[in-house]
Amino acid sequence: MSMIIEWLFPRSCFGCGRGERYLCDLCENKMKSGLLSHKKLFEGIISTYKYDGLMKEIVEKVKYGFVSDAVEELAKLMGNKLKISYPNVVKYWQKENFCLIPVPLYWQRKNWRGFNQSEILAKGLAEFLNLKCVNNALTRNIKTKNQVSVKNRQLRQKNIDNAFRVGDIKTIPKKVILIDDVVTSGATMNEAGRILRDSGTDLLWGLSLCGVQK
Ligand SMILES: [Zn+2]
Repeated sequence: MSMIIEWLFPRSCFGCGRGERYLCDLCENKMKSGLLSHKKLFEGIISTYKYDGLMKEIVEKVKYGFVSDAVEELAKLMGNKLKISYPNVVKYWQKENFCLIPVPLYWQRKNWRGFNQSEILAKGLAEFLNLKCVNNALTRNIKTKNQVSVKNRQLRQKNIDNAFRVGDIKTIPKKVILIDDVVTSGATMNEAGRILRDSGTDLLWGLSLCGVQK
């Protein structure tokens, strides 16, 4: 499988075509940083990168090009970025034993793509930052449209209402970092976060690879 992927997607920088990684240091440095914001449901929401330019291109390539090992590389980038930009938050998460939970994909979409990019990000980050990761805490009820393709904010909210429920898990962790690949309106993050908070999570953080800044 990995040989086929190497052949279809030779491992070189998405940005400049050089090197042996999907994203080289030079191109990574050119990408804009994300932000930290606070919402009631969450202690904080961090997007490590801004969803535009090269990062937007990469995320789209990964989603529609089925390049799961590129996501593993992105998880490391994200972990590094967090350690550099938010060292105290990372230390706090580690000290308090926060648990990473990915926003789930509908099973059909996961089967079609072969992987859930948020799940790979969560697993990779858990390893990189020495945190736990629980995959089955949430499940997705219905097939929702890709939020990025739903333009209107109200429609986005409608698209995601009641999309999640608690998965096959005995107790929902008390301290959770909810992770998604892209945060656009925040509707998906909010809806998944609300389920967690209603089901026993006391301290909730949101984390995404990239976000749209308003
Ligand atoms: Zn490059």
